[in-house]
Amino acid sequence: MSTVIQLFATEPASDLQRMQRELVLAHHILDREGQGLDIAGHITARMPGAETFWSNRFRLGFDEAVPSELHEADMNLNVLQGNGEISPALDLHAAVYRRRPDVNAIVHTHAVNALALASIGEPLAMIDQQASIFFEDITFFNEHKGVFLEGEGETNMVAEALGQNRAALLKNHGIVVVGASVQEAVIGAQVLESAARAQIKAMAAGTLDPLPVPAARQSKKFLGQKDIFDWKFDYYARRVLRERPDLREALESRG
Ligand SMILES: [Zn+2]
Repeated sequence: MSTVIQLFATEPASDLQRMQRELVLAHHILDREGQGLDIAGHITARMPGAETFWSNRFRLGFDEAVPSELHEADMNLNVLQGNGEISPALDLHAAVYRRRPDVNAIVHTHAVNALALASIGEPLAMIDQQASIFFEDITFFNEHKGVFLEGEGETNMVAEALGQNRAALLKNHGIVVVGASVQEAVIGAQVLESAARAQIKAMAAGTLDPLPVPAARQSKKFLGQKDIFDWKFDYYARRVLRERPDLREALESRG
């Protein structure tokens, strides 16, 4: 159970409401971290084992996410709950959920530093120990054929390329980061963008000198623990709630 619930006066009525609360916070955290780009990018989550998933309503920005605008859809993108549309780009999320029963949350953004790194064909280097959560756990997808659209094939190619990894850098596009929880996917996306920023700075200044493999493995084992993701997510949640009083109100009104 996430400690996020302790941030609110009201307990969520169910595990589903807890997850919805975390999903809304996820949008605001990554918006605050600069990963929201107008209405592009998507964050989704599902209850473990569910054949459906939840997303923000189509055409809303990350900073506009509230519980009442969340939509539930099946793996064919039929909306089951919610009074609007969902993005056809969520075909990618369905493709990943179908292949990965271990994945309960997916972040796709056009994070600018990761995008810049991917655009020059550079894989993520282990120069930042935080980035070790991606050691031997990130792929590079360089067959960009256009925007994600339902039934166009690229979403399945990306999901295949992602395989069992934590993340994929998408050349000329952005990132996909997955996790067993909203916390894991969101913190993974934050770490990936931060590590990409550090790598670009390092490449401009000199020669990359990555962590030795044993150190990368040791760091990955420690930093990849569930508690670490939860603690970091809670920090970002506290910060965004301090800065956005309307958000706390929207989350608490859901109960
Ligand atoms: Zn995209």
